[in-house]
Amino acid sequence: MRIGVFGGTFNPIHYGHLRAAEEVKEALTFDKVLFVPSGTPPLKTEDLADSLDRFEMARLAMAGNRAFEVLDIECRKPQKSYTVETMEALLKLYGHAELFFMLGIDAFLDIPNWWMPEKLVSLVNFAVLARPGCRLVDLLESPYIDVERSNLELLEKDSREILSLKLKSLREAYLVKITPLDISSSDIRRLHRAGQSIKYLLPENVESFIISHKLYLPVM
Ligand code: ATP
Repeated sequence: MRIGVFGGTFNPIHYGHLRAAEEVKEALTFDKVLFVPSGTPPLKTEDLADSLDRFEMARLAMAGNRAFEVLDIECRKPQKSYTVETMEALLKLYGHAELFFMLGIDAFLDIPNWWMPEKLVSLVNFAVLARPGCRLVDLLESPYIDVERSNLELLEKDSREILSLKLKSLREAYLVKITPLDISSSDIRRLHRAGQSIKYLLPENVESFIISHKLYLPVM
């Protein structure tokens, strides 16, 4: 079994996340995608919805899709979760499966700042998603990948969708070009706070949840 693990704050989940997961699942023939919303850090910013609300919004967003599942492994923890620990737990839970950590280029480039990055890149495979605002050649900055600039430039230009890369840790990484949807959670929060519409950027039931739970409103 091949499983994509999609971590994030999902504050809130939106069509950029959902469409990315769908396309990567198809391109890399995953059997399922597990969404893992992060927990609430002790010093929570006021803009970050409670982890259980973020979990619930993700659950609503994927209702009816049997290939998508949302896990509360990080958000039910009172303390901060580290991705490396989450992956270790999932490797135990899905011992028979091949796990691919799915993340945008922006997040992949941030890995050196995470807890035990070297261990993380040797634990699982990666599916790195192109995202508006990030260029594929930005990946040359990553200390974990050995790739020719020309290969990244080719992928950027041509109609190929996937570039298979070997990480220095010898794990696999697939760089996947997906339909560019320039949607971000921060834009959604900003629009909603300003009283503007967030319709069609995220599923309708998630929008209703945000409204009924009074999330992302200006602080009085
Ligand atoms: P924020 O705007 O609050 O930073 P976000 O929209 O980037 O949030 P996250 O929950 O931080 O959402 O992202 C989770 C993962 O999804 C990250 O790896 C991020 O790169 C990726 N991602 C988010 N939005 C998109 C998108 N529109 N297209 C492709 N990948 C995305």
